[in-house]
Order: sequence, then C-alpha cells, then structure tokens
Amino acid sequence: SPNQVPEEYNTRTGVHNASLELAQRRANATFVILARNSDLENTVRSIRRVEDRFNTRHHYPYVLLNDEPFTDEFKKRVSAVASGQVEYGQVPKDHWNQPDWIDEDRATEGRDKLVAENVIYGGSVSYRNMCRFNSGFFYRHPLVLPYRWYWRIEPDVHFHCDINFDPFLYMQDRGKVYGFTITMYEFDKTIPTLWGHVKDFIKLHPEHIAPDNAMGFMSDDGGETYNRCHFWSNFEIADMNLWRGPAYTDFFDYLDSKGGFYYERWGDAPVHSIAAGLFANKDQIQFFQEIGYEHNPYTHCPKDPQMWERGKCGCDPERSFDYDGYSCMRQWDRFMGN
Ligand code: GDP
Ligand code: MN
Repeated sequence: SPNQVPEEYNTRTGVHNASLELAQRRANATFVILARNSDLENTVRSIRRVEDRFNTRHHYPYVLLNDEPFTDEFKKRVSAVASGQVEYGQVPKDHWNQPDWIDEDRATEGRDKLVAENVIYGGSVSYRNMCRFNSGFFYRHPLVLPYRWYWRIEPDVHFHCDINFDPFLYMQDRGKVYGFTITMYEFDKTIPTLWGHVKDFIKLHPEHIAPDNAMGFMSDDGGETYNRCHFWSNFEIADMNLWRGPAYTDFFDYLDSKGGFYYERWGDAPVHSIAAGLFANKDQIQFFQEIGYEHNPYTHCPKDPQMWERGKCGCDPERSFDYDGYSCMRQWDRFMGN
C-alpha cells in the first residue's frame, strides 16, 4: 500500500520508528484507577493486562487516585509496568468523606438495615465514600482535569482479547460519550428512593433530557418505574464532558442533596448509567462487543467468532455474561433494535 513505510527504513533506524509513533493519532485520554495501597498486587496485575492487550501500542497515561498517600513501593511497582506516564494523586478530604450535613443517626440506621438484609458492603462507610467519589468527583481531580476521555480500570480486572483499535478515537470520531461491556440489574435494596428522585429531577429540569435518550432501556413503563438495568461501571470508557456539563452537574448535586449515597447505598454505576441514559442520545452509548473483559464474578466475551479470533481471545464465548439471566443485554438489544 502507498502509505506503508518500506521495511528497511523501519529496521535500519530507530528514529523512523520513533517518528512513526509520534505521528500516531491519539485522543486526549487517560486511564483512571482508584486504589488503596493494599490493592498494589491487583493493580499491577490489571495494568499488566491492559498493557499486553492494548496500551503497549498506545502508551496512554495513567492517573492513580487514593484517599491516602500512595506508598513509594506502590509507585515503584506501578510505574514499572505502565508504558505511559503515571501520575499519583490524593483525593481531597471534602471529595471523599461523608459530608457534615448528613444526619449520622439516619446514616447509621441505613447501614444497619442493609447489614441486616445481608446487602454486600451494606455496613461500609468507605464503600459509600468511594461510590460518591466515583459519581461526582473523580473527573474534577486536578490530575484528571486536563483530560477529556477516561478509561476506568479497577484492581484485578482482566482483558481477554487484543484490542486492535483505539476505543477513545472510535468514540470521539462517532460522537459517542459512554462505553460499556457489561450491563446488569442493580440490587433494589441499595437504591429504594433513587428513581423517585430521578423522576423529580426530570420534572424540574426537562431542558437537560436528550431528545433520543435511553429511557426505554431503563424503564419498561415509559419512566414510571426503574427496571434496575445499569452499566457495570468498574469498566467505563467515557467522555468527561458528559459529567462536567450542566446536566450532570445539576443531576449529581440534586441526588447528593438527598443524601442517598449515605442513607441508602447508591452506587456510581446506577447514577452514571441513569445519567448517560437521560442526558445522551441512545446512539451515543457504545457497547464494546469486541472488548473481552472480566471483573469477578462476571466476564464479557465476544460472541462473534471472527471478532473472537481476531482478538486472540482467551475467554470462552459460551460463558459470556451477556445472556445470563442477570444480564441486561437482552433489554439493551431489544431497545437498540439489534
Ligand atoms: P466492587 O467492585 O463494587 O466490589 O468494589 P471494589 O472494592 O472493587 O471498589 C471499587 C473501586 O474503588 C476499586 O478501584 C477499589 O480499588 C476502589 N476503592 C474501594 N474502596 C476504596 C477505599 O476505601 N479507598 C481507596 N483508595 N479506593 C477504594
Ligand atoms: Mn471491583
């Protein structure tokens, strides 16, 4: 092909290789990883897998965030496996801790109730801090602010296929704003009042609702009730303009003022998902079929044999979560007319 650089140039001088790399088009994007120092081993494992399947060809940077200072050991181990620049930041206390205006008696009562109901993380304050931070604050951290796009990575996640394209550029070029690999039902016990507040917000701010939104994915009765379908946010590739814009800013502030991150146990997954479903047009939400992804206990594996082969996938498509009874992929397919 006329665009191909002759092989001899590539092999003879390293300079050519370097300049080719510099010429590669990139998005203004970063990986974002929230982790504790105790997550060190699993964080290194995740980054190693991201690198092997994708980033070794792109060298996108990483921002690691923690509510405590990262140890020197943590920084050394992570920087050793990342091929892009790595920055380490601490979350400001007022972006993390339970706000003073939260009624602690009511919050305690809420936690006790979920513990009694055996809800996972039901009694944890730090989990609630994390969910609120991921909902409304990570994209405002000074180390994250310079970027428009992010790819959220968690400790000990797997990437099962070669990612032979740039998901950031793919989304940017097509006007997409939110990308996911796994969708499922949320536990009703963690969000008893969330949808009521969402409905009030819609009435209060009709100007924020996208004309061709994804309400039909989230509700089977035109918005009256929530079917609890949401995107699993431990994997996210998204445009932070979605979170930084006026619609989500109003939405987060409104929800936050209701206290449900602490009185109940609202997750960033339903909050982000409902927002993407309301403030973006449905075609701006991208299901990444080709990205084989696993976060315990669920795996998404590409079902298209050609896609699976091209990606040299190590996962079993027969065991993909997509068509598990607990998955919302059927709702997504039906809604999108697939
Ligand atoms: P799960 O996926 O819902 O089971 O929750 P995780 O324990 O994986 O937590 C979600 C993300 O938040 C992961 O990236 C964790 O490393 C991070 N995380 C959770 N709790 C804390 C915390 O107290 N401090 C910090 N720094 N990170 C946390
Ligand atoms: Mn996790």
